[in-house]
Amino acid sequence: MQDKYGRIIDYMRISITDRCNLRCRYCMPEGIRFIPMEEILTYEQILVICRQAAALGITKYKITGGEPLVRRGCSELISKLKQIPGVEQVTMTTNGILLKEALPKLLESGLDGVNISLDTLNRARYQEITGFDELPRVLDSIETAAGTALRVKINVVLQEDVNLEEWQSLAQLSRVYPVDVRFIELMPIGSGRNQKAVSNDWLLAQMRRQYLGISLDDSVHGNGPAVYYQIPGFLGMIGFISAIHGKFCQSCNRIRLTSTGEIKPCLCYKDTVSLGEAVRAKDAGTVRALLEKSVADKPGMHCFEELSHVTEEHKMAQIGG
Ligand code: SAM
Ligand code: SF4
Repeated sequence: MQDKYGRIIDYMRISITDRCNLRCRYCMPEGIRFIPMEEILTYEQILVICRQAAALGITKYKITGGEPLVRRGCSELISKLKQIPGVEQVTMTTNGILLKEALPKLLESGLDGVNISLDTLNRARYQEITGFDELPRVLDSIETAAGTALRVKINVVLQEDVNLEEWQSLAQLSRVYPVDVRFIELMPIGSGRNQKAVSNDWLLAQMRRQYLGISLDDSVHGNGPAVYYQIPGFLGMIGFISAIHGKFCQSCNRIRLTSTGEIKPCLCYKDTVSLGEAVRAKDAGTVRALLEKSVADKPGMHCFEELSHVTEEHKMAQIGG
């Protein structure tokens, strides 16, 4: 599908649950109220939507949450998604806690890649950021996933006064393992609203000082806005996703499906197009028309630099990142 700004929309992120086994402070604060289970789309309903999306040219899908691996049957969903004609790629983003155990089934399902979120290599700090002492399990999952055929990426959000000085040790994961380490600028969603994002321009300048041979890699890596750099001797690359200091809206290729069946055309605004009623009525024609409408109505750009214009009030855990 092409939107009114000429952008090709061929990628959909699917949040399959708003539940999570962590409580990352900037994403899912304590006291958050969960959506009643009866309002969450069933896998069959998600597949009804994806069949229409694939027919409209959405070829790439990311399974997200909350934490997708806390919902039972996630790999069966992926396997069915992969069988839909027109679906070329299905990947997942996870906090990694349940990943190691889930890997055999995920590999069988045909999953193409996995992004693992990790903001620190310090066990006490991990507990401070996420609320749980789970760092060893996540590291174990990273090591195991890196040894499979899956494409593995590590997603890092740096925060001043929290984990900023760890950028180098986190980047080193891509020296030790064949994984890309991507630094994502904190967006003003949820409690991210109360903090200034660490600038990826600043971070790249630090890396240039530290790694003299660092160079831009302009091959296509994935579905998104990450810009990649190669460091000599590293097995993986370093990626920068600079939503705040490197606005990339002109190349935006995505829509988001929430766990309750809302299509979100842009992360920054609360506006959604609801597929819930049509999908519950098994009305595939209306689902397709609403998907087309959501792309037609997609805003030209976000306004994260102007906080008073950001209308999204949900937390990232309810949207899926
Ligand atoms: N639970 C899974 C995980 O952690 O990867 C999937 C959902 S999580 C919402 C997806 C990603 O969003 C994580 O990498 C997390 O760090 C990121 N995230 C959450 N809040 C954010 C914010 N305000 N700005 C930028 N990234 C954020
Ligand atoms: Fe859960 Fe992922 Fe949000 Fe952390 S970032 S609270 S793991 S949804």
